[in-house]
Amino acid sequence: MSHDNVPRSDLVALDKRHVWHPYTSMGRYRDQTDPLVVVRAAGSRLWDADGKSYLDGNSSWWVAVLGHGHPRLVSALTEQARSLAHVSLAGTTHEPAVRLAEELVRVAPAGLEHVFYSDDGSTAVEAALKMALGVWRNEGQPERRRIVALEGAFHGDTLGAASLGGLEVFHRGWSGGVVECVHAPVPDGEVHGGVRGEDERDGRSDARSEGYRRAFDAMHELVDAGAASIAAVIVEPLLQGAAGMRTYPARYLTELAAHCRAHGILVIADEVFTGYGRTGTMWACEQAQLTPDILCLAKGLSGGMLPMAATLANERVFGAFLGEPERAFWHGHSFTGNPLGARVAREVLAIYRDERIVEQAQPKMRRIRQAFKAMGAIPGVLRWRALGMMGCVELASAGGYLGRGGWRVYDEARARGAYLRPLGDTVYVAPPLNIADDELDELLAIVAASLRAAL
Ligand SMILES: *Cc1c(COP(=O)(O)O)cnc(C)c1O
Repeated sequence: MSHDNVPRSDLVALDKRHVWHPYTSMGRYRDQTDPLVVVRAAGSRLWDADGKSYLDGNSSWWVAVLGHGHPRLVSALTEQARSLAHVSLAGTTHEPAVRLAEELVRVAPAGLEHVFYSDDGSTAVEAALKMALGVWRNEGQPERRRIVALEGAFHGDTLGAASLGGLEVFHRGWSGGVVECVHAPVPDGEVHGGVRGEDERDGRSDARSEGYRRAFDAMHELVDAGAASIAAVIVEPLLQGAAGMRTYPARYLTELAAHCRAHGILVIADEVFTGYGRTGTMWACEQAQLTPDILCLAKGLSGGMLPMAATLANERVFGAFLGEPERAFWHGHSFTGNPLGARVAREVLAIYRDERIVEQAQPKMRRIRQAFKAMGAIPGVLRWRALGMMGCVELASAGGYLGRGGWRVYDEARARGAYLRPLGDTVYVAPPLNIADDELDELLAIVAASLRAAL
């Protein structure tokens, strides 16, 4: 039976009986939510069961960096499915996994020559953590087992990744659970935006500001005091997505990494969200001249078409697992290196090259910035930020992640034909990098109108 044989109302009733949704308060959902029933997606639009279309304001949870149903991705997927859908990668190999690895190494920051595959952002982070801890164990310093993360960090929901979490509402009960973690403060990111009623600040003054100094000094103290027990530092470079699209200066990242390196601490960059041009360069790391020891990729890696992830490591990390079999990285998943995902991920990189995706997106980034700067003046908006293909406003109602202000904007936008899932009181857009100019203008106009209507 195909979905169009089931009336929308029956589908929703069955959904409410059986489907347990992610990040959803299910009691409230069953009682109050009339979910969007999506039947089709193409480019930057979703269509619901009634034939109404919605601009996909967040690339379907940050994954559809090239929009939906890109014809080249669809062809790559169907062709691959005809020849080889899956085989294990343990002592076996296949062209999609090999060639994707080679192509990722070529575009990644220098020195990341070894590619470990997994399924999603969380598993890419788990692999990174176990690599970092394994390096020190194999090198005879098992006491180096703490991880430094940033305040407000989000690195995924599996237990290890959640242990790093710095977000009260998501990580209460999990934080520090499996992996011992210490949190370093993050300077406020007004470098990428502004407060209502004030002029835009510039990066240089921000880096000299009181808040920057305080964060910087606290980070130094933390690292100096704990260095002998710290294995690695993990960062979401420049942009902390789940924390509410919080940004911080590139200079902080450069200095944090340099200080950690001076103590031998490994640097892990989690570019699961920031990668693939989201912040304006292919990798956010580039803006801080950062070459991490380990890099985590997912989301945009497969253009949002399949669960597929990669953890890249440099020679220092890879080499620590060579030698006796006990030293090996005993880790993997049923679907590690899945040929469908790998083939699609190769096509994503090819499209980035052929369509010069990051370069073509630059004028769109300027439009997003201008539009959000203007929205900063709407009464009820506390501050705005923009970085690359992300723009956001924080509402003055400030109820944090569980705040309802953002959901009023969501309802208004939905009525106007845009899908804008908020992060509590942070309303943002993170559209596909190849969204058409007229669709981007329409999306930005809907955000502004929805804010005015809701506030
Ligand atoms: C989304 C996200 C993850 C987790 O990825 P999943 O695919 O949801 O497991 C990890 N790190 C960052 C920075 C993310 O934004």
